[in-house]
Amino acid sequence: PELASVVLGGTVDVLDFPKPGIVFKDLMPLFADGAAFRRVVDGVIEHFGRESFDVVAGVEARGFVVAAAVAYATGVGVVPVRKAGKLPRKALSATYELEYGEATLEVHEDAFVAGQRVLVVDDVLATGGTAGAALELVERAGGTVAGFTVLMELGFLKGRERLAPRPVHAMLTV
Ligand code: 5GP
Repeated sequence: PELASVVLGGTVDVLDFPKPGIVFKDLMPLFADGAAFRRVVDGVIEHFGRESFDVVAGVEARGFVVAAAVAYATGVGVVPVRKAGKLPRKALSATYELEYGEATLEVHEDAFVAGQRVLVVDDVLATGGTAGAALELVERAGGTVAGFTVLMELGFLKGRERLAPRPVHAMLTV
């Protein structure tokens, strides 16, 4: 509950972004506030426990911010899950539907060691399309998803249903 208010306090609702009718939750103020950012990063680690994952995967681009901080604080590595066409070496791709459009995510085919437990990190869970694609990529690359963590979940879009039975942690559900 306290973490939920930290997230809420660092979020600005932006009307009609990136398209008319969408209310975009902007978490940049949270990232820019050192005390709040540290609280949420520590919150992720406390929730999962540092023994429950071997590597952190961050979803481009806002997921990178939190993923790198979690990785640094726990002494594990970080793997970027990138948008199409950005990775320099052979990559696996997964295409999915967004709340607004379609997108493709990629990960290097050798990004994970077989059986490595991967904590997948993003800022917001909406329809779950993005997280579902990340799940598919981690598993195709030989990893095991230890869990998903987001700072905010848009509960009415039911994204977590797509990720069952993997653990999904959201600090704030709106
Ligand atoms: P989904 O694939 O679950 O529909 O959408 C989640 C992805 O889109 C995440 O990568 C997230 O960063 C981005 N996203 C969707 N809606 C929002 C939003 O309202 N605020 C922010 N910050 N990101 C969003």
